[in-house]
Amino acid sequence: MDDEEAAQARLTAARLSAEGVVGLALSWVDNAGIARMKAVPLRRLTEAVRLGVGMSPVFDVFLVDDSVTTSRLLGGPGGDLRLFPDLDRAVPLAAQPGWAWAPADRYRQDGTPHPACQRRFAKRMADRALSRGLTFQAAYEVEWVVQTPDGSSPTDGPAYGLHRFTDLSDYLRDVLQALEEQQLDVQQIHPEYAAGQFEVSIAAEDPVGAADSTVLVRQTIRAVSARHGLRASFAPSVQAGSVGNGAHLHLSAWRDDVNLMSGGDGRHGLGKEGEAFLGGVLAALPALLALGAPGVASYLRLVPSHWAGAYQCWGLENREAALRLIAGSRPAANAEVKCFDGAANPYLAVGGVIAAGLAGVDSGATLPPEVEGDPALLDSPPPRLPQSLADALSAYERSELLADALGETLFEAVRAVRQAEVELFAGQSAEQISAATRWRY
Ligand code: GLU
Ligand code: MG
Repeated sequence: MDDEEAAQARLTAARLSAEGVVGLALSWVDNAGIARMKAVPLRRLTEAVRLGVGMSPVFDVFLVDDSVTTSRLLGGPGGDLRLFPDLDRAVPLAAQPGWAWAPADRYRQDGTPHPACQRRFAKRMADRALSRGLTFQAAYEVEWVVQTPDGSSPTDGPAYGLHRFTDLSDYLRDVLQALEEQQLDVQQIHPEYAAGQFEVSIAAEDPVGAADSTVLVRQTIRAVSARHGLRASFAPSVQAGSVGNGAHLHLSAWRDDVNLMSGGDGRHGLGKEGEAFLGGVLAALPALLALGAPGVASYLRLVPSHWAGAYQCWGLENREAALRLIAGSRPAANAEVKCFDGAANPYLAVGGVIAAGLAGVDSGATLPPEVEGDPALLDSPPPRLPQSLADALSAYERSELLADALGETLFEAVRAVRQAEVELFAGQSAEQISAATRWRY
């Protein structure tokens, strides 16, 4: 820790203390998509910034049910890692008085980066793009379902309806207020389609920032829900057979302050490089699903005609396309990866998409003809994306692009976790899978 970091730690501690904070929660998201944490008392903040906070590397091979597998390079009870909070993101938690939160990067005890740190992977991919002059604006939409502890819905109001908004008026106000107090730039909040489902959108920021924000948004919703005697589920499938929770990733690529998704000579104003980037993403979607739709339950959600993006195609404003182009005004134009869900580790998902897009730029990829309307209704529909985690895992295992981007340790850990979850749920019914994962994410 240099003098500047020590000074930042002292200033942050003073700032948080003045706001009544007694402890700082450090979180990271594991390969199963579960946000995990350790906390330190605020008086230990400087020490945490200097030395990190201990945590076993075994969490890289934890499964959604907290059982543990091993990968070729990771697993077992030995070893230790250090969690370092990113103080630039440290913020008092509005719905958890006395607590503050910061995302953490993971290092080895010898001070070198942990090769399986997912947050550093996202940063590495953003840096890889930056070295080619590309930057991004990214945001995850957060969808969630609220239920009472006995599993009933606190509202029977219709989708997108004022009725549902009225039933949960105080709850939604508290969610909105807590998010805004935490400097999250809320764009909109509304009831979604499924029973008791809502959605919030946050303004776009850099890729790591977008992943950090989605962790904080979800933690805030969790905490406000608890204060209202409710539970929040971000799981891909809350009720088997019904619409699930997506975690759509919005992304625009920029060169020299110009948005490559707009103002170009291509279809709907796409620039050549913007199209190549999206062409790379579209081509890699089957493998990317192992990062963005990473659970067995993800495939209960990823079905046609549920606005989940089950087909490997793109389309202008097409909510059934896995890649939806939102032309919008020049600064706002972006592409939405719709096939990703709430089980995804947001750092892995955004890092994987950037890696795939850059590969598309390198190879001069192009987009196939666009799809209008629901692809399920076409005489010759575009390819279906993988229909099970096992199929997505096969595509992932064949992806040299993701193997190179993730690096061997992280690539293998993800592979081991996916394989073990396939085995964990083998032979189980949709209802059983949904019930076992509903409250995990
Ligand atoms: N809930 C849908 C999903 O599973 C998305 C609905 C929407 O388009 O916002 O992704
Ligand atoms: Mg939505």
